[in-house]
Amino acid sequence: MSLLVVGSVALDSVETPFGKADEVLGGSATYFSASASHQSPVQLVGVVGDDYPVDRLETLRERRIDLAGLEKTEGESFRWRGRYRHDLNSAETLETRLGVFSHFRPKLPDQFKSASYVFLANIDPRLQLQVLEQVEKPKFVACDTMNFWIESRRGDLLDLLAKVDLITLNDGEARQLTEKANLVQAARWILARGPKTVLIKKGEHGAFMFTNESIFYAPAYPLEAVFDTTGAGDSFAGGFMGYLARTNDLSEANMRRAVVIGSAMGSFVVEAFSITRLLSVTRDDIDRRVADFHRLVAFDQDMPS
Ligand code: AMP
Repeated sequence: MSLLVVGSVALDSVETPFGKADEVLGGSATYFSASASHQSPVQLVGVVGDDYPVDRLETLRERRIDLAGLEKTEGESFRWRGRYRHDLNSAETLETRLGVFSHFRPKLPDQFKSASYVFLANIDPRLQLQVLEQVEKPKFVACDTMNFWIESRRGDLLDLLAKVDLITLNDGEARQLTEKANLVQAARWILARGPKTVLIKKGEHGAFMFTNESIFYAPAYPLEAVFDTTGAGDSFAGGFMGYLARTNDLSEANMRRAVVIGSAMGSFVVEAFSITRLLSVTRDDIDRRVADFHRLVAFDQDMPS
């Protein structure tokens, strides 16, 4: 099934306790696509300025990522600068420069309009809404967001919530959006506003999937060395949505498997800066890590008599 994403295509500058990267490939749509492409072809919608090193995106094109919806226009590309201290769970944003995204009017190529699976990755909720309006009959729509948009575009974000099947956000964002300290209550608050499923990510502490009927939890993979967590959330979403698009099965059991695929992809991306690791990881690596997840949580419920 076709999978479409709209989101940022960025140049990131990141500092972690383990190193620094300047103007590397980043952005929510970039991480998402690189991750999802291991499961399914991807159609990407976004914009870059005339300063963007588009040749570096060739690696994406080679991986079944269709860039027909990536506009190139005059102006400065989206740039994000962030820093992580020893707690790699949360980034401190030092600078967000929207550049060409501030005037972007997305126009979907005709061949993208019939997409079945749609991911509205982290970007201005007004752009997420504009893209969604152009998709004819999506089967499953999910979105992401972050503190920047919760603060500046709350009304649009609430409009968007009513139109999606699923939202992914991290625990801090869920608390900020709902003004509830308790995550179960936060999930209930969101579920009452439209989405049938809420995925709350807790960084190295795993992820919860809430519906009105159930709660599922998947741990994060206990890595010995984490290098840079930028893009972990988008890579999680890419694995999750890519798997759903590939299998075209929205049963609870399959959504649970998708959460584990997402967690596996999140665990790879943090091993290096930018999308480097997402490009080198193989299908065997992913399968092995999913099997490791299974072993990690398996236990015998029967008590000895
Ligand atoms: P995450 O998966 O949450 O770590 O996402 C990291 C990516 O989000 C980085 O590559 C940034 O370029 C991108 N990003 C940061 N701030 C924003 C924003 N306000 N809107 C869209 N994308 C952003």
